[in-house]
Amino acid sequence: MWLSGDHHIHTKYSSDGRYEIIEQVRAAERSGLGFCVITDHGGPSHQKVVTAVAYRELLEARRACPGIIVFQGLEWNIPSAEHGSIIVPPTHDEAQIIEQFESRFDAKSRKDPPLGEPDAVAGVSFLQSLPSRPLFFANHPARRGLDSPHELRAWSDAGPDVMRGFEGAPGHSASTLMGELRGHYADKSSAGSFPGYPTESYRTFGGYDYYTAEVGGLWDSLLSEGRPFYITCNSDSHRYLGDLVEVDRSTYKRDGFVTPLGTQRPYRDGETRYDFDYPPGLYTSTRVFAKSRDPIEVLAAMRAGNMYTCLGGLIESLRFFVHDGTQAVPMGGFLQLTKPGATVELIVDIELSEQRNLGGLIPALHHFDLIVGEVGPPVAHRDTLRSPSAKILRRVLPSDCERSGRRLRFRQRFRNVSRSFFVRVRGTNTSVVSPQLDPPDIDPWSDLWFYGNPIFVMQKR
Ligand SMILES: [Zn+2]
Ligand SMILES: [Zn+2]
Repeated sequence: MWLSGDHHIHTKYSSDGRYEIIEQVRAAERSGLGFCVITDHGGPSHQKVVTAVAYRELLEARRACPGIIVFQGLEWNIPSAEHGSIIVPPTHDEAQIIEQFESRFDAKSRKDPPLGEPDAVAGVSFLQSLPSRPLFFANHPARRGLDSPHELRAWSDAGPDVMRGFEGAPGHSASTLMGELRGHYADKSSAGSFPGYPTESYRTFGGYDYYTAEVGGLWDSLLSEGRPFYITCNSDSHRYLGDLVEVDRSTYKRDGFVTPLGTQRPYRDGETRYDFDYPPGLYTSTRVFAKSRDPIEVLAAMRAGNMYTCLGGLIESLRFFVHDGTQAVPMGGFLQLTKPGATVELIVDIELSEQRNLGGLIPALHHFDLIVGEVGPPVAHRDTLRSPSAKILRRVLPSDCERSGRRLRFRQRFRNVSRSFFVRVRGTNTSVVSPQLDPPDIDPWSDLWFYGNPIFVMQKR
């Protein structure tokens, strides 16, 4: 069954948050999400509450909202890198696991000497060693250029069952509606940034992170090594657009939470605004195909990459699989061929949207791209950030598809397959060949994309 979810949500237990846990959970449920993860920022203040008051409230939210799965999580300050979502399986000690992990491996837990790259790798190894393994996805990976290619590879190697990808599209989706850059990607390279990233990588493209949006870029480079490395997208919801409630942030350091004051104050002209988010699930969604509505199955499906990402309700659904006549493999999977010269068929099923989105339009899919790349041995140079073989194989228009009502089906055959490759799909309501660097004033509801996760077709050598 398909469940939409969001693994990156903040509450008043973040210094820059604002809402009660149950408010965010209810908002996620109203948006139709089937699961959500509470990921407040790590650090000493958060450690004061994570096993105590915040956890009690998370348990209460679970009881009050049985229609949605609520995971305990953390937004990890990765030592010498960006942020990451940690998603913990529901066990009796889920909050203790977060507290333990955070106190040892969160960059804010120790200043002198600061934690570094080896500590990040040790943190991932710790997660990998747990009996109920959490998941780790790197958040807003290109925002500040801090996640270098070799770090992503090191995390993936240290936690092969834990580190399974990054956010393909960041949250903060309402930012351009109040004068900030899309996804709140407004940085440039700084001391800790990887020098190989180009200037434009610090901006979004069609709402997506550069590592995902660039064909033949970093994501494809990781896939070209046959890494099970998948994308998600999330709200990173801190404060909803138009929410003017004043918040006393001075209580955070002492108590581990900020205090909403109940009073409202309009923003002054020129004042920096912070209401650049939508409630979870309202604009971004990660749609996961789980065997059942069970938290363990949801995590298993995310770990397997059987999921796709979608902005602004661009499409109703995507089904994407390959088969060789005897076995079929969905998104995220590996089709192992046993003989050379096999024929493999790719099938893309898309159900078009019929609902008006919040931007006032019924999104119309203009086209989708099939993207392929060769899969070979691990790269020799760990900071490799390109995959030269990755390319758009074909741009497909709705008129190229078999059509039945709102359902499109497209088939692509790969004959005489002699080498391993990956294939993925992305689509948009715009006519551009590639997603463009987002201008400051772009209406997020006008420029919509979906990205599927890859399927690997593996040929014996
Ligand atoms: Zn973050
Ligand atoms: Zn965040």
